[in-house]
Amino acid sequence: MTEGARGVLLADVALPVPLPRALTYVVPDKLAAAVRPGARVLCTIGSRRIVGVVVTVRTEAPPEKAKALLSVLDGISLPEDLVGFLLRVSGYYLAPIGEVVRLALPPADKEANEVVEVAPTLFGTAPKGVAPRKVQWVVATSVIEASNVGRAAPLLAFVRAHGTIPLSRLEDQFGGARSTVKRLREQGLLAIEEREATRDPFFVESVERDAPHDATPAQAAAIETIAIALRRAAEDEAGKSGATFLLHGVTGSGKTEVYLRAIADAKALGRGSIMLVPEIALTPQLVGRFRARFGDEVAVLHSGLTPRERFDMWRKLRDGAVDVAIGARSALFAPIRDLGLVIVDEEHDPSFKQEEGVRYQARDMAILRAHMHGGVCVLGSATPSLETEQLARAKKAVKLVLPDRARAQTLPKVEIVDLKRIGPGPTGDRRISLLLHRAIQATLEAKEQTILFLNRRGFAPSVRCEGCGESASCPHCTVALTFHKKRGGVMRCHWCDYEAPMPVTCAKCGADRIVLEGLGTEKLEESLAEAFPEARIARLDRDVASGKDVEKVLSRVRSREVDILVGTQMVTKGHDLPHVTLVGVINADAALSMPDFRAAERTFQLLVQVAGRAGRGDTPGRVLVQTYDPEHHAIRFASKHDVGGFLDCELRDRRELLYPPFSRMALARVDAVDEGEAQRAAEVLARAARAAAGVVDPFGAAEGTLDVRGPAAAPIARVRNRFRFRVMLRSTSREKLRQGTLAVHAAIAQLPRTVRASIDVDPVNLL
Ligand code: ADP
Ligand code: ZN
Repeated sequence: MTEGARGVLLADVALPVPLPRALTYVVPDKLAAAVRPGARVLCTIGSRRIVGVVVTVRTEAPPEKAKALLSVLDGISLPEDLVGFLLRVSGYYLAPIGEVVRLALPPADKEANEVVEVAPTLFGTAPKGVAPRKVQWVVATSVIEASNVGRAAPLLAFVRAHGTIPLSRLEDQFGGARSTVKRLREQGLLAIEEREATRDPFFVESVERDAPHDATPAQAAAIETIAIALRRAAEDEAGKSGATFLLHGVTGSGKTEVYLRAIADAKALGRGSIMLVPEIALTPQLVGRFRARFGDEVAVLHSGLTPRERFDMWRKLRDGAVDVAIGARSALFAPIRDLGLVIVDEEHDPSFKQEEGVRYQARDMAILRAHMHGGVCVLGSATPSLETEQLARAKKAVKLVLPDRARAQTLPKVEIVDLKRIGPGPTGDRRISLLLHRAIQATLEAKEQTILFLNRRGFAPSVRCEGCGESASCPHCTVALTFHKKRGGVMRCHWCDYEAPMPVTCAKCGADRIVLEGLGTEKLEESLAEAFPEARIARLDRDVASGKDVEKVLSRVRSREVDILVGTQMVTKGHDLPHVTLVGVINADAALSMPDFRAAERTFQLLVQVAGRAGRGDTPGRVLVQTYDPEHHAIRFASKHDVGGFLDCELRDRRELLYPPFSRMALARVDAVDEGEAQRAAEVLARAARAAAGVVDPFGAAEGTLDVRGPAAAPIARVRNRFRFRVMLRSTSREKLRQGTLAVHAAIAQLPRTVRASIDVDPVNLL
């Protein structure tokens, strides 16, 4: 096409540089056929050559000084429909398109993006370096043995039962496996294939394919309803039949089976699926079940993969060789072909919100992505978020209920222990009340297992001087330092990682009366070891465990090498441990005083989830909830497993105060080294929001107006030597909120460079 009255072919290109918008380039005629949304192109910016991704192609008069694209790079391109989704994400969160595109590129790109400014790397090519490790797999052939195979028969039967299995596994199982396999191979009964090693910590334990359970009636109803929606969506050429489901199933009701069937149904229709889980490292069991059902046909995206492995996974997904992806929130951007189903397991979990860079909420965007592809979204939880519950009540989602546990166990009995009235047990440690002590004792005697949950949200072991009352805090942040036992005791800041040795005397008054307060899991473990010397105790928290270690601890619990498991939020996740009959909650109210309108919701969810770990086997479970606030509605409803009651009550409160889901919020955060400068900048943003929204109701939130609060100092007023302020925007009208956030966004661009500012649409973490 040549330049003329009707314009020329232009491409808007997202670049890996911090620009708010895509840049527009002219497409030379010879490239016209190859340039389409998703294509990677080489272009110039200033004097540099740089690789970007085309997001839109259009014919128009070229903007002044528009440069021409240099070339189109083969190999990796993004699917076109994924690019459409990325544009929507960028628009909704007011995030630079270049950063959003990055979320969807394979990891090689991400790394190459960092260096592209100094060298015109052809990023996106497979990362160089170590070649993938090859593993030998043994495969059963279709040959039937003529004569008897003698002592090789058990091995042969084993391989046939599995279809295909790594040789190393046979070696674990059978003496002399290697030579037996060699012989059977010569007879044509077995074959050997070289495959790339899947670096997947969940892989080995679960190569066996697992047969589906016979669904319970409630499961069958949910499976059927989803199947109908999947079929309708697949048949709809216009792709407008997207549907959203809330799968509300009590803990142990068998939600996983519903997910597995839904994915199988989507597969049967030729459509791919994405399943998001809160933290892949914490859910080895769940991933194991997916592996068992779908074998190699599922890509498990987790942080243990090398860049090379990620890249290969990404390409297999994009090319349609694998059509199911499981992963944490970032798997939302997996380049699945013909996506028909997006599942979010434990949809209430706060980890679906990304808290840096592009601050997206994967659960919300899962609905959008599913619908944009003409697909179905399933949000599953035992404790639905208020947002999702309200979607169902407003008939924007269909609620599917699994009211009972799958294997006929009853939900555990929950008893509240009022710590104001019940004193400590024989250990003298206030966190192990007499009642809890006795319950642990009884569980040990019955040779059953106990989980103890210490809520550390808003609560951490701190170091205080009994002389002057001063507690040690970070010199760079307004945050108390947290005690860690490693290397004889250090104090660490959880915000900036500042670390100092444990002091002998108080820095302020010089007294040597340093004590530890609000002790964490380590000290609890010690107290327990003293109180129950015969018990085998294990601990699960961020300090102990990452990735593989989690699985190690959990598998020790499963094989009953552990009597008491002590831990933080990590123990509340969906573990299915049949011999746990006692769950003790050490401090149920720890998070209730957090300055966050979701504090009650979070507390309720944690309590119900952790209680759900008890009594999943044949023996009924028992839960003890220790608290100083036994009347709080979050604690009362959780102790009755009354999710509906809690949702009613909490939704009523939120509606009255016009908090989400009855309004939407955006939080502008500002920080600077100079306190005055930070505050002034925050004032500029607040003024911009107020001006954009027109008249502001002086009495705060009201239907349809924009409520702008602040600027106010953030609850944690200083981090890494920078003073923090924030401005809160809230409205029941999407339109009004949008006007406000756009105005703030524009004002941020005008702030001095010494100020950092960002806007968080639909914030989760309010600190
Ligand atoms: P949830 O995720 O709802 O807490 P899970 O999916 O972990 O529940 O299932 C709980 C347990 O019930 C698992 O051990 C699972 O194997 C079992 N289970 C699920 N569905 C059935 C079924 N239809 N029949 C028998 N057992 C089932
Ligand atoms: Zn700090």
